[in-house]
Amino acid sequence: MPFASLGLSPALAQAAVASGFTAPTPVQAASIPWVLEGRDVLACAQTGSGKTAAFALPLLQALQSAPQQRDPSVLVLVPTRELASQVGEVFSQFALALPTRTRVAVLYGGVSINPQMMRLRGGADVVVATPGRLLDLVQNNALRLGQVQHLVLDEADRLLDLGFSDELQAVLQLLPQRRQNLFFSATFPQEVEALAGSLLRDPVRIEI
Ligand code: AMP
Repeated sequence: MPFASLGLSPALAQAAVASGFTAPTPVQAASIPWVLEGRDVLACAQTGSGKTAAFALPLLQALQSAPQQRDPSVLVLVPTRELASQVGEVFSQFALALPTRTRVAVLYGGVSINPQMMRLRGGADVVVATPGRLLDLVQNNALRLGQVQHLVLDEADRLLDLGFSDELQAVLQLLPQRRQNLFFSATFPQEVEALAGSLLRDPVRIEI
């Protein structure tokens, strides 16, 4: 099955092929059409399954039909700086295929906050962040989350394992009620199920 048959624009389908992705992985084939429809998605997906492109490609497409503004419309929360960098890189690479410039900001703790504050002055369409640093930046007025239309929790089980539960709840309070939620996790222990249950509205469940 080619990428274009999932509902992706020719530019994004070609960008996937140009990255060496000849065909969608199972999680991509199952998720992309629903994400494009605006549905909430609950996906059981391991690292290596191609989960990043499963949300990055359709969310980049969604951004194309939204007016560009200063504040982000896509927020991806991740547990670690390594994952933040990887996910940011995937968004940036696919965004090169699009006619409008997409500003991707990658934000994580353990490094100086100032360059991240400077970076945000130019605005951002997509923010990929670890929860603690994201909150620090909001508290410093470097970023507002009131325009977020699409939230992704990537590796939700690790977010909770690493003790981000309180920060996560604080971030959720800052988001608009009306938004799309995409929830990716490799495992579903009880606390992950509870978080998914409180966050998602009538989700499409994807188990590969
Ligand atoms: P992820 O699970 O998103 O971390 O992706 C794991 C690896 O699979 C990354 O190196 C991707 O570049 C690669 N990948 C993702 N989707 C595809 C695809 N459709 N075809 C081939 N490789 C892919």
